[in-house]
Parts: sequence; structure tokens; C-alpha cells
Amino acid sequence: MRHIAIIGSGPAGYYTAEACQKAFGSDCRIDILDRLPVPYGLIRTGVAPDHQSIKGVARRYEAVALSDTVRFVGNVSVGDDVAIAELLDLYDAVVLATGAPADKPLGVPGDDLPGVIGSAAFVGWYNGHPDFAQLDPPVHGLDAVVVGAGNVALDVARILAKTEAEFGGSDIVGHALDRLRAAEHATVTLLARRGPHQIAMTPKELGELAHLTRAVPLVDPADLPPIAADAELEPGLCKSVAYLRDFAAVHDDKPVRIVFDFFARPVRIEGDASAERVIVARTRIDPTGRVVDTGEEYAIPATLVVSCIGYRTPPIAGVPYDDALGRFANVDGRIAPGLYAVGWARRGPTGTIGTNRPDGFAIAELIAADIAAGSGKPGRAGLDALLDQRGVDIVTFRDWQKIEAAEITRARTGAPREKFATIAEMLAARA
Ligand code: NAP
Repeated sequence: MRHIAIIGSGPAGYYTAEACQKAFGSDCRIDILDRLPVPYGLIRTGVAPDHQSIKGVARRYEAVALSDTVRFVGNVSVGDDVAIAELLDLYDAVVLATGAPADKPLGVPGDDLPGVIGSAAFVGWYNGHPDFAQLDPPVHGLDAVVVGAGNVALDVARILAKTEAEFGGSDIVGHALDRLRAAEHATVTLLARRGPHQIAMTPKELGELAHLTRAVPLVDPADLPPIAADAELEPGLCKSVAYLRDFAAVHDDKPVRIVFDFFARPVRIEGDASAERVIVARTRIDPTGRVVDTGEEYAIPATLVVSCIGYRTPPIAGVPYDDALGRFANVDGRIAPGLYAVGWARRGPTGTIGTNRPDGFAIAELIAADIAAGSGKPGRAGLDALLDQRGVDIVTFRDWQKIEAAEITRARTGAPREKFATIAEMLAARA
């Protein structure tokens, strides 16, 4: 019997559990620990609330969670309630699938002003993450700036630009919908420090901007490279750039403008008591591919600045950490004997939900190679005894199903659920 602990119940955690089940059959016991009382990580609190089809993958994770060899242990904070060294004593393998839930800092003067928010916090706010339920972002202003040219920037711009009706069928939390309903944005500027050929935005997500009720995406035709150069791009990027070319031809005929500002790097954020404007340096790409400033600077009014420039994995005491890369120090997923990292905690915040599946299978192969058979460690019985002794109030998958049922019951009309946004409410809903 191999005892395996997976820390984090998001996509990387569940795909690893599924892979270990396939690799070891009934000869393993897998505990999936999460610091929240609710499972699924980014599926619940990262994926955009208006992308419900992507969230459907949770049903697959549920099937894994309900199998005999796997259990969910929620409301347990590794590093606080139980140390990594203790888990290594209890389990044959400990896999860190903790994702990258912390914002990479923007690192410009003024980035600490009220109104300047990282995407982990902003996305967490509209998705009901208990860490950010109290965020209260200033979404009421006329002008917002979103920094970054990736899919998270697109999510944020789209959420800011949608009408209430366009949130029908989504699970955006009530506190965010109430605030966004009252917002009167005129301009959402997307700042990309490089050009249209260097975006990290995918075609489906870009295409959505063309169909918003009150908002229109706008691209300055002068920013687009000659069309012949698109032939050199890989097919996905080529499609994305085709959308940008469409946006360069559309009419500015809706009340909200989503302006793509390419070759634009934020250099500081100014304001008296809170953000009022972003000072931007015009950039160009030099022959070596580096971004360099041209010397031109200009100001964009913004009372809300959301930086969507990537994430970091928070360190855990006792686990080697690569500060430069913002993730656990590892070689292909191996951190130390018996200790592994998977998903964004292993490779950084890139790739889609599905990218975590091969990652999970690769870790299961490493565990199979490293740990020929169980070593008689106590596994879950030992964890239960330890947590019980410390008075940790663990949440089981059965408890989660009660929480989920309560969220479904209280959903507004047309919505799949109304998430509880505080841990106290989640715990109370188990009763
Ligand atoms: P991302 O794709 O890595 O994009 C980050 C963006 O931030 C890049 O455009 C980058 O520009 C820019 N950036 C980084 N540092 C910057 C700085 N200091 N100043 C200005 N700009 C800076 O990251 P993401 O958007 O957070 O997405 C993370 C992953 O989740 C991606 O793999 C993404 O595709 C995925 N995701 C997918 C979906 C979906 O499929 N619907 C939705 C959301 C996220 P440079 O390129 O110049 O560095």
C-alpha cells in the first residue's frame, strides 16, 4: 500500500490523483488536502464565471473524489496545521499541487495605491474566493487600465465590460455583480508592453470581445505588422492576430471602449489618495527581441488598475524555493526524496487546465519509479490522529456536497450556484 498526500485540490491535484489511481489501482490511498473547505482550486475561483463549460471538468474530479482510494480533506493549511516534515513522516509521497495563487508584483512606483489590484485578488473577488471577499475594488470609475496581454487580462476586461444580462447563467458572486451592475466604465485600456505578434491571448477568448452588448474592442491599425508577416506565426497566434485585425476595422459605436494599447509599458501610477492615472512609456522591440522605451511618455486616466502579469507560488516552510522563478525548486517535479511538485507549483503559471493532466501522469510515473512499494507509513490514519489532536475541523467530500447543495439552493434565477464567500459560511453550510 502506497500512501500519497496531494496538497491542493485544483486541476493539478485531481489529475495527479487520477493518474496515481491508474498507476497503483487499489494498492494506494490518496488524501487530497486543501486549505479551503471547498475543492477544485482554480476551477472554482480562477476560471471566469461566464465560462461555465470549462468549469464542467469539476464533474470529472468529483468522480475521482468519490472513488474508494481517494478522499478530500478540506480546511487544512499545510505549513500551519501540519508541517511538510510531518506529512513526509506519514506518507510515502507528498505532492505539492498548490498552484500559483499570489500576484507577481507590478514593481512600479505607485503600485501600492488604493485602486491598484493584482489579478489574483480581482479575479478572486468576483469569483467568491474567501481571501478576497472584502476587497471592494473601485469598479465605479469611468476609466480602468488592465496590464498584460494574456488570457487573464482578457477575462478581466470582459468582466468589467459586460452588462448584467450578459452574466446570466454565470456564477459570478452576488457582491461582485451588485458592484459591476452600478459601474459606468467608458474605457478599459489593455496595456501590452509588446506588439500584436507577441500576445499570449488565445483566439476563442479574443473572439468573445467582438460580441459584447455594450462594449467594442479597438485596435490602432498602425500597431499591426504587415499582414504578410502573419504567415510566420503558429496557427493559434495567427488566428488571434486575425481578430486584432478585425478589431482595427470596427466602428467605435458602443458606450464602452476596450482599447488595446500595444507597445505600452506602465512606468508609474499617480494619484493623491488613490490611483488616478497610469504613466506609460511607449516601447519598441529592438533587433535582439528586447523591449526598449522610445522616450515617449503619456498618461492614461484610471481609477482602477488591474495588473494581469502572472503569478507566484507562495513558499511553504521547509520546502526548497526558487525565488527568481516564484515556484518550488524542483527537477522535473522532484523536490526531495518523497516530495514532489506538479502543475503551476512545478513549472510556473502557464498553460491551460488540460496541461495539468500530462503533468499529473508524469508525477505518478516518478512516484512509481521512486517508491517501489509502500514502506508501512501510517498514511491517513496518522494524519487524522494528528489533526484531531490539534483540533483541526476537517471538511470531508460529503461535507462539501452539502455546501454545494446549499450554494445551488440559494442561486439567483438562471445561475448555477451562489457561492459562499467566507469560510464561516462554508463551514456552517455543512450542518
Ligand atoms: P500570461 O499568459 O503569461 O500573460 C501575462 C502577460 O503579462 C504577458 O502579456 C506579459 O507580457 C505581461 N507581463 C508580464 N510582466 C509584465 C510587466 N512587468 N509589465 C507589463 N506586462 C507584463 O499569464 P496570464 O494571463 O496570467 O495567464 C496564465 C495562464 O492561464 C496562461 O497560460 C493562460 O493562457 C491561462 N488562462 C487561460 C484561460 C482560458 O483558456 N480561457 C483564461 C485565463 C488564463 P510579455 O509577454 O511581454 O512578458
